[in-house]
Amino acid sequence: MTEVRTEADVIAELQAKLDQAQAQVAELSGGLVAGVKDGFAECMTADCDEYKALKPIRVRVEVVNRYYPAGSDVHGIEGSTQFVVPVDDGDLRCPVCEGPRSVLESAPRKIPKAI
Ligand SMILES: [Zn+2]
Repeated sequence: MTEVRTEADVIAELQAKLDQAQAQVAELSGGLVAGVKDGFAECMTADCDEYKALKPIRVRVEVVNRYYPAGSDVHGIEGSTQFVVPVDDGDLRCPVCEGPRSVLESAPRKIPKAI
């Protein structure tokens, strides 16, 4: 029996390899890294019991690179924009008030008060 590989299978395989390679490049260059990781969601409704309470969720980090236009003197990535979305869409909604939650890649840094 021969394994039948569709074009979609091949593309998916190549895309996975590409994603992996891009993640490695980004990591080595200290850039933004795409992938699934542990993140947080917090309720944005001020009168909710869970307001601003950080809840751990799984998030997917997506990185969109902007490249210098072809033919310009500079090559490569001009800049990167990072998007953080929940792996489970249900995490966008607060389980207590059903209002919207904001999704964070990591816990926000506490800004120290000025002395
Ligand atoms: Zn809420």
